[in-house]
Amino acid sequence: MSVYDHPEFDNHEKILFASDAQSGLKAILAVHSTARGPAVGGCRLWTYDNSADALTDALRLSQGMSYKNVMADLPIGGGKSVIMKPEGNFDRTALFEAFGRALQALNGEYMSAEDVGVSPEDIMIAKRHTDYVVGLDGGTGDPSPTTAKGVFMGIQASAERGLGKSSLSGVKIAVQGATGHVGSALVRRLAGAGAELFLSDIREDALKALAAETGATVIEDLNAIYEVEADIFTPCALGGIINPDTIDRLKVKVVAGAANNQLKTPDMGAELQKRGILYAPDYVINAGGIINTMGDIEPQFDAKWVEGKLVTLKATLLEVFDKAENEGRPVNEVTDEIARRRLAEAAEMKQAA
Ligand code: NAD
Repeated sequence: MSVYDHPEFDNHEKILFASDAQSGLKAILAVHSTARGPAVGGCRLWTYDNSADALTDALRLSQGMSYKNVMADLPIGGGKSVIMKPEGNFDRTALFEAFGRALQALNGEYMSAEDVGVSPEDIMIAKRHTDYVVGLDGGTGDPSPTTAKGVFMGIQASAERGLGKSSLSGVKIAVQGATGHVGSALVRRLAGAGAELFLSDIREDALKALAAETGATVIEDLNAIYEVEADIFTPCALGGIINPDTIDRLKVKVVAGAANNQLKTPDMGAELQKRGILYAPDYVINAGGIINTMGDIEPQFDAKWVEGKLVTLKATLLEVFDKAENEGRPVNEVTDEIARRRLAEAAEMKQAA
């Protein structure tokens, strides 16, 4: 497995490959950039086919955190960690204790919260061995409700530009991963705004209950969510779902949701543009959670500051939509360019200091 010439390497500052034979921990802690402050990003526990897949995921997610944090103008850098889920039965406590020790070894260059497959309870276990965790009870807590609020505001912005609608009332929205931490909070907000909802998730019972509560339609076949005759597709499960297999099945005018790394490859942004589909860059629209977590790092980042930042998030989306339209370029390309420029400026300033 090559690292420095990996297509996703993108000048990562540091990558820690941690392993602990006793607990079965195999984790990759990726620090993309500390140019603007300590790298912050969640920890994912997932079944990967091999360590190359885990590395690719860690690198992409970590770069995405740098882009997210710089686009939200936060005084932190970007990083992310992935734990390869051990096969068969394993001791979860021992696993997260070992993860905590690995995190501590980075001396605060990277701070972790939870991500897919990891709960705040897991991070509390890691905390026994590290000072560098955020997003916990007793602090700012689960970031998901604030992520959902930011995504909701981002969907409003996307509906304005992509559908010419100033209200979500009657707007048809297909949500993938509807019962998740972010998905469920978002679905309730969208239902409250009068949207007509179509929901999918692998957790059938939770899905039926949420649909009954919100008056939504259940899409039973997981693959059929791409083909729903809706206005907006809202991915809130995993990444890579805008790809050559799915893109021609989309009937929507807007893709706007919480999932990280929605585009399997960057060229999917141009493909969406060609099809007249407006794409809300994932790392801009889903920044609400990390914004909320800032209160664990510095007390001045309080609830009022968070509210202001969510308003700015919506404004940033409108700005990148406008810039992309004026320049006739894909939104993801324009946004990546801004993020990369800001990161390079920060790196120069750090070096000059
Ligand atoms: P979660 O694990 O709570 O929710 C994911 C949901 O997707 C689950 O309900 C799961 O059953 C469902 N799912 C999995 N595979 C599916 C499939 N093939 N089809 C339909 N549903 C499927 O995770 P979360 O914290 O809600 O995060 C959701 C996404 O948002 C992730 O991509 C995450 O990286 C991203 N994100 C989360 C936050 C946050 O604050 N939690 C912040 C930014 C980005």
